[in-house]
Amino acid sequence: MAECSISPVCPFFNHEVSYSPELVTLAKARFCWADAAACARLRAARLIGPDRVPRHLLPFDADAYHALAARTGTATFLR
Ligand code: SF4
Repeated sequence: MAECSISPVCPFFNHEVSYSPELVTLAKARFCWADAAACARLRAARLIGPDRVPRHLLPFDADAYHALAARTGTATFLR
């Protein structure tokens, strides 16, 4: 499967936020290179634009994504 379409501008993907290397490696394998459609960051980017995604939103943080979607009034849910 192809790499996530917004990886060049994603702070998480480009190690611009401070998380353990192990966490980043696991998340990249699970989301960036396998199932970007399930990533909370990509879903948020589609809602509000890549530039407005909170820098520390984790790819697997569905709760934070839902809270963000609720604040924007958008009823879009992760599977
Ligand atoms: S963390 Fe999410 S938005 Fe960022 S590159 Fe990976 S799949 Fe794409």
